[in-house]
Amino acid sequence: MSATAGQRSRKDLACTAEATAYQKAFGAELKRRVVEAGEAFAVAQADTPHEIFHVMDIPLITNQWWSAYISAKQLSTRYFNTMVEHGYPDNSCKYCSLGLACTLANDPATAPWGGLPKPAVLVARLTCDCIQQVFSQWADALNTDFFPMEAPAWDYKDPEWYAHSNDDWETVYQPGRIALMVAELEELIELLERKTGRRFDPARLETLMHRINEQEGYIAEAARMIGEARPCPVSIADQMPNTMIPQWHRGSDWAVAHARKFRDEVAERVKQGIGVAANEKLRLMWIGAGVWHDPGFYQALEQRLGAVFVWSMYMPFAGPQYIRQLHGRTMEALASRICSMNEVLHLPPWMNGWMVSEAKRCGIDAAVMLVPPDNRLSQSGTRLTTLALEDAGVPVLALDADMVDAKTWDHAAMVEMVERFVVDAGLA
Ligand code: SF4
Repeated sequence: MSATAGQRSRKDLACTAEATAYQKAFGAELKRRVVEAGEAFAVAQADTPHEIFHVMDIPLITNQWWSAYISAKQLSTRYFNTMVEHGYPDNSCKYCSLGLACTLANDPATAPWGGLPKPAVLVARLTCDCIQQVFSQWADALNTDFFPMEAPAWDYKDPEWYAHSNDDWETVYQPGRIALMVAELEELIELLERKTGRRFDPARLETLMHRINEQEGYIAEAARMIGEARPCPVSIADQMPNTMIPQWHRGSDWAVAHARKFRDEVAERVKQGIGVAANEKLRLMWIGAGVWHDPGFYQALEQRLGAVFVWSMYMPFAGPQYIRQLHGRTMEALASRICSMNEVLHLPPWMNGWMVSEAKRCGIDAAVMLVPPDNRLSQSGTRLTTLALEDAGVPVLALDADMVDAKTWDHAAMVEMVERFVVDAGLA
């Protein structure tokens, strides 16, 4: 029997449609600037200093957004086959390399935007042992520069980083690591000024950082309300776009206003006692990146079992990871935001410390964890986080699947696996 393909998700909030419409218009404008107007632009990983590109008004394509964009168009299988034809092992990691695969396929007829034109620079932090290869080979294929940023180790480890990061960020993220990131930020600014002719204005960065604090404050309020409310007023299918689309534009007037609107719509749903499931019985936690080729997966058991995905990392991450009291040191505050972004999400003791705390805060009954077979970093903290959650009384189901590669994904089979897991755990 053939695998069932991914399904669209239901959107319950009015502001969700506004966010996706904004991102669609932004995509069209980005394409106009980058493809038609030929403006100098950058391609960068999600855990890099987007703030620098924003204050210099340099168009930015986030690699994870581009990868999810290609995957949502159901093109990943074709492009990963191309990688194999180019001699890459079939088990190469996927999330960060789908953009490279699209470039190597060199098929303007099918590629989004006819394929990416030549960027001024590719930027990535060296957070895993593959990224340097992926980005340097992509830079070669696009005939441009790769600006790598270090991901230095830590010797001070605070499992409760999320409780201290807004204000005491120098202690949590360590002065030496922050100083290295500041030096790299200055190098990156020098490169961008030279390659794009745009100028960096420190005053604009300070203003942006204050605006970002305001935006993330609204998202943090929404996360608090959603965690406390019974029934759950907003499922992760609405949480993700209302958090991540403003995140790609963080600190902009639109992003701050949208975050406030999202917070207000959440508050109204809580006041009215609205729940995403008619009869909520089970509160689930989704651990890992989104399944970009099957956004309808999270809602499949809402009606049948009253099983609601209440939590995913994107929205609750906004408060502890992005809010920074500047202490008159704007560049250092920014560096502290960036120099840990991936590590606290995927590595112990930060990942398990935070996720156990979040499971308790949101009254989670069980967790479903995406374990991408070929993705090194996303796998890193999964085993210890599973043990920590189970110790805290939260059973965990590990799904052997990829966030962008739909080749082995079967919607019906995955939903049935979750159903069997909650039944066997005596939760349904
Ligand atoms: S292992 Fe993961 S984080 Fe590293 S390059 Fe591959 S997809 Fe990206």
